[in-house]
Amino acid sequence: MATAPSGDDMFDEFLSQRGHDVEETGWEENYNKKQCPDCGGLHESAASECSVCGWTPVN
Ligand SMILES: [Zn+2]
Repeated sequence: MATAPSGDDMFDEFLSQRGHDVEETGWEENYNKKQCPDCGGLHESAASECSVCGWTPVN
C-alpha cells in the first residue's frame, strides 16, 4: 500500500470481520466486551442484557 492504514481503518476492518461472527447469544463482540447490536453499547462479558436500551439476546 502507498499509505499505511490508519488506526481507524484497522479498527473498521476489525469490526467488519468480527461483525459477522455473532456469538451464540446474539451479542456482538468488541475486544473483550459484549456489544449491543441494537444501540452499540459495550458491556462486560457477564452482562445478560443491555443496560443502555434494554436489549436482550433472542435465543
Ligand atoms: Zn443496547
